[in-house]
Amino acid sequence: MTVDAHKETLGFQTEVKQLLHIMINSLYSNKEIFLRELISNASDAAEKLRFEAIANNKLYEDDPDIKIWVDFNKDKRTITINDNGIGMTREELIKNLGTIAKSGTRDFLNTLTGDKPGDSQLIGQFGVGFYSSFIVADKVEVISRKAGMPADSGTRWTSEGKGEYEIETVKKSKRGTEITLYLKAEEDEFLNSWHLRHVITKYSDHITLPVIMKKEKPVEASKDQKDDKIIEVPEEEVINRATALWTLPKQDITEDQYKELYKHIAHDFEDPLAWSLNKVEGKLEYISLLYLPTRAPFDLWHASRPKGLKLYVQRVFIMDDAEQFLPNYLRFVRGIIDSKDLPLNVSREILQGNKVIDTIRSAVIKRVLAMLEQLAKNEQDKYQTFWKEFGQVLKEGPAEDFANKEQIAKLLRFSSTHTDEAAQTISLEDYVSRLKDKQDKIYYVAADSFNAAKNSPHLEIFRKKGIEVLLLTDKVDEWLMAHLTEFEGKHLQSVAKGDLDLPDGLNDEAKKELDKQTTGEFKDFLDKIKKLLADNIKAVRLTNRLTNSPACIVADAHDMTPQMERIMRAAGQNVPVVKPILELNPEHVMIKKLQQEQNEARFNDWAWILFEQAVLAEGGQLADPAAFVKRFNNLLMELV
Ligand code: ADP
Ligand code: MG
Repeated sequence: MTVDAHKETLGFQTEVKQLLHIMINSLYSNKEIFLRELISNASDAAEKLRFEAIANNKLYEDDPDIKIWVDFNKDKRTITINDNGIGMTREELIKNLGTIAKSGTRDFLNTLTGDKPGDSQLIGQFGVGFYSSFIVADKVEVISRKAGMPADSGTRWTSEGKGEYEIETVKKSKRGTEITLYLKAEEDEFLNSWHLRHVITKYSDHITLPVIMKKEKPVEASKDQKDDKIIEVPEEEVINRATALWTLPKQDITEDQYKELYKHIAHDFEDPLAWSLNKVEGKLEYISLLYLPTRAPFDLWHASRPKGLKLYVQRVFIMDDAEQFLPNYLRFVRGIIDSKDLPLNVSREILQGNKVIDTIRSAVIKRVLAMLEQLAKNEQDKYQTFWKEFGQVLKEGPAEDFANKEQIAKLLRFSSTHTDEAAQTISLEDYVSRLKDKQDKIYYVAADSFNAAKNSPHLEIFRKKGIEVLLLTDKVDEWLMAHLTEFEGKHLQSVAKGDLDLPDGLNDEAKKELDKQTTGEFKDFLDKIKKLLADNIKAVRLTNRLTNSPACIVADAHDMTPQMERIMRAAGQNVPVVKPILELNPEHVMIKKLQQEQNEARFNDWAWILFEQAVLAEGGQLADPAAFVKRFNNLLMELV
């Protein structure tokens, strides 16, 4: 198709309309961020041009100095942001400024209404980008021309930010993008040179290319010089530092500059939680600047979410989201790697299996873990914030990164019977410091919800004896436990698995008594139950793990727990049915009564109900719920 010069009016994608509506309502108190977003985009465009020009020098045309100009016009009430970066074609304008490509956007936007107080925080983590122009402008015009394309291939995009935009092919001799905002009536403050300069400097000090504004003329300058024939050419000046922030000595970088750089590279709205700048010299030379975000992005759990670090080679931007520098369990980390040892023409393929990358990657992992360790030690509130947002991701660590397992384990936080609170605040080191005499295991119970874990019958004896048990309720927990089998020499043991196994001495007498009961008075009873439930259980036995409940089910020592089975099924895995072991509490009146029961029908109903309620208490589902209800009602009828 040939370039279509005619004007056409196109509609925004539904998500864009939603975003515009929510953004204008909820970000008003933060409106100056439109400047950050537009300068950030101009800077990205410049970096893309520099990168593409490595292979094709002609893209610079006759204009090799990349810059951003910002100007305003009081009479027309406009601000313009102009760059000579990579530019956009007509198709790119339609795609970039008419749609939102991130997956999960619609669901996310549907959770916001546009007038809830918390919306501004949420919309910020989504990253509002170019569309933030409409917070202050009632009309926006974008004129762009792609680098290396002819002058008559420019495109003008205009919109009032309602439902649609106009697009038209125009002439543009200079490559790049010029954005003009027609300010709303009440936005006069941005037409003040001092204010505009102040805001732009704040948002561009960390940008690597110069941001230029016209110099303000001294107010009375020309009064006494009426005869002067000099034609005034407005002087220009660079208003930012225009150097790669991460190359500066640490003491020259302010907190605000770190924060602004973070917001630029992470497309985030909130300040980062922590950061770490490291310059490595020697055999390999590189700089890493690593940030922990304060809040998880809305699409943290989307597989297609871009992750990784921004890669530079000798200050030249090479690519976004270079995944090779971070393992999956640290996918929340944002930041920059600037390497001296990689070739400028490095590609994603080359990054794979490259020795330099592998070395940097190991060092980055160590840096991140050290940063987390520091935070956990020195700023516990911040660490708790981190844990709430990203703890579940970090829990994937021990399975993925064998080498750093111990260090990751120290960073994990759980809830436990020590506090009985849902907040995950307890470290394995805390737990170990409270071990009972001769206790050589770390006990845990895993369930679907906090209440199910907290009230699990498996905990009864542990509570009675005052032994702490970790309460695991995240989906990833069983996976974590499968890989983190011990900590500081202490085995991690599910209380829902195998024989009850308490610290030496705590249970020896009771155990002897149980053995006696099992081979003595309860022998026939147990045989009878085993026969009755043979299709559903692997074995039946007496237990003293229960104090209040009559029965529970446990997994055999080497079997999958029912909770793990459910997780695997939910993940679409084909897992064989594992029969549980039914455990009965010989001290419980119900068990004592059942043992005496002579009526066979009633015995059977009771036995089945015991098994079924044990399944329910553990969080499982019944194979035949209707039969359970019928049996239950049979027994209730006897009370009527
Ligand atoms: P983001 O920057 O997070 O991708 P934006 O809404 O800020 O989202 O921008 C959308 C896209 O529009 C950018 O990814 C980029 O491709 C394009 N774009 C925006 N501004 C410019 C510009 N000044 N020059 C070139 N491309 C731009
Ligand atoms: Mg942007």
